[in-house]
Amino acid sequence: MADTEQREGSILQFAPFQSAVDEGFWHKLSSLKLNKLGIDDSPIPITGFYAPCSHSKVSNHLTLLAESLPSESGEQSSTAHGNRNRCAIPGILYNTNTIESFHTLDRTSLLKEEAKKIWEDIHSGKAIEDSSVLSRFLLISFADLKKWTFHYWFAFPALVLDPPATLVDLRPASQWFSSEEAESVSAACNAWRNSSSTADVPFFFIDIDPNSHATIRHLKDWVTCQGDNHKLLFGFYDPCHLPNNPGWPLRNFLALICSRWDLTSVQFLCYRENRGFADIGSSLVGEAVIAVPQGWKDRQFIPNAVGWELNRGKLNRGKMVPRCISLAKSMDPNRLAESAADLNLKLMRWRALPSLNLDILSGLKCLLLGAGTLGCQVARMLMAWGVRKITLLDNGRVSMSNPLRQSLYTLDDCLNGGELKATAAVRSLKRIFPTVEAVGIVMAIPMPGHPVPSQEELGVLDACKTLHDLIDSHDVVFLLTDTRESRWLPSLLCANLDKITITAALGFDSFLVMRHGAGPFSSNEDLKDEAVNALSTDLGNLDLGGRDERQRLGCYFCNDVVAPVDSTANRTLDQQCTVTRPGLAPIASALAVELLVGILHHPRGIFAEGEATSSSNSGSSEMPLGILPHQIRGSFSQFSQMTLVGHSSNSCTACSGTVVSEYRKRGMEFILQAINHPTYLEDLTGLTELMKSAFSFKLDWDADTDVDDDDCVEI
Ligand SMILES: [Zn+2]
Repeated sequence: MADTEQREGSILQFAPFQSAVDEGFWHKLSSLKLNKLGIDDSPIPITGFYAPCSHSKVSNHLTLLAESLPSESGEQSSTAHGNRNRCAIPGILYNTNTIESFHTLDRTSLLKEEAKKIWEDIHSGKAIEDSSVLSRFLLISFADLKKWTFHYWFAFPALVLDPPATLVDLRPASQWFSSEEAESVSAACNAWRNSSSTADVPFFFIDIDPNSHATIRHLKDWVTCQGDNHKLLFGFYDPCHLPNNPGWPLRNFLALICSRWDLTSVQFLCYRENRGFADIGSSLVGEAVIAVPQGWKDRQFIPNAVGWELNRGKLNRGKMVPRCISLAKSMDPNRLAESAADLNLKLMRWRALPSLNLDILSGLKCLLLGAGTLGCQVARMLMAWGVRKITLLDNGRVSMSNPLRQSLYTLDDCLNGGELKATAAVRSLKRIFPTVEAVGIVMAIPMPGHPVPSQEELGVLDACKTLHDLIDSHDVVFLLTDTRESRWLPSLLCANLDKITITAALGFDSFLVMRHGAGPFSSNEDLKDEAVNALSTDLGNLDLGGRDERQRLGCYFCNDVVAPVDSTANRTLDQQCTVTRPGLAPIASALAVELLVGILHHPRGIFAEGEATSSSNSGSSEMPLGILPHQIRGSFSQFSQMTLVGHSSNSCTACSGTVVSEYRKRGMEFILQAINHPTYLEDLTGLTELMKSAFSFKLDWDADTDVDDDDCVEI
């Protein structure tokens, strides 16, 4: 006993109860508050659970679980009785509507009110029938459902004995009992704990007869068991692990013993377990002297109570403060989705792609021109890669034929004339991933060769300005519209602003995915070096002049006049507008996004030279994401796919220096001229001459653009 703190004759001190709240409890409280309670803040009966201490170093807690709360249908959750690890304890919850009312709750009177219930249960005898009411507890809380933060404070009301109980003896039960008694007490306790009718009865007494045979009995049998030569000990499930202190439940137990049975000397067993069995070594037996406090015989009298949980925080050690827990990360379904999505990407970084830069992706602003088959699919792929800022531009409505191929739409979007695609797509993206920052823009893209009546000129100029601003404010532009000419203005604006631009286009059974090169006036010094190297580069027989621009990668329109390097392997794609095979769009969209991720992770970004599958360049082919092609063309007819490189053309109607500088000089006037005069661009770039002399190639500005099916795309 030399090492014990509590010496004979000292005041008996109890280890306070500790609380633990399972996240499921807060989940359910939130749901209850949102779906049923509303602003009703009347107290809610709840159930706490505890069990005897089962670890030599850790106390057991009073735990709240989801089933601690009543169900939303109004019934108190039926807690199965007889669970040895869950002794049910009645409690009450005051959940306030505001943080202010939480802080101004009258904690003193709330505690007193619960203490009064315990007091009355002791006097009425209810506490003897159902001893769990002795450990009745109180919880006050404020649930901030916007921030998923919960402020709360537990109280375990204990009636104050005055004068306090003094300790005569306290030692491990193994030292107190004879070995026969210890064995019999262990066996009796194990039997009590293993019987479904008594496993969760936390207060009892032990009757040891002169033959050292122990029996555990219910409190109600106390009066009939006052035989001679029997040792009688009061026992309780002790949640505390400390070797020198009984746990909190003993306080009200002593109050019961003292006021019901007038005992002045009490022997008690603090019952503790190890691995599910009675542990006589860690259980304690003590003897305390108690005196009936003044006034306790008067039922109207209510003793003082203590019991607000002492909350220990990093800053508030030892200070009486409420607890606060933020479950934002685990509770908000939006954040839940976000962290799950991040998890997938972060796992890629573990081994496969340690250099994957998720910050670039999550901060990237992508502008998708077109929200049809390609636009829907590209948006989904972008989200899968962790892109969170997506703007979709489209002026069409969802038609009945769309949902099967355009993965963001459902039949509902087609009703009543059809929802605007830009609107429906954004809503759908948010449904898939609520924290995506998706914006829909309803707008038609001005197109060359489509003359505008003078009264519509202002609207068209407005659209040009809007498109310019949109491209300027985004990092990446995807050209995913269903007509060739609608890609011209964005291609020009992107070349002017040096934006990363990716085109995906579909034929019937073939596709093209390409990234545009930097603009003709890009400031990248490397291009000039390349221009020198270009002199020694064999570009085949195509001599279109303007070697200084050769090494810049081409745009979608450069293809019109500059054949890809690997021209022999490239079969002519059908220029007819036709329905595509359904598998094409998902493949092309996925490649477009993979291509973007490649550009973003390439040290030279938009200036990275194009690599073909057979490229001898071993530099970036050792990049973790593989080679960075300029163009990918694929075909279902042979199930083939090839990478190609095509450089920019001086005669390009969208990205050549001539066109871009003309745009810079004359701005909207130039655009209007291009729109209103079908041959203006060709005249400007010398393409007309070129075509007359060298090609019989015809720029097909007049393709039917009124086709209903969005899957129709020319390449
Ligand atoms: Zn071009």
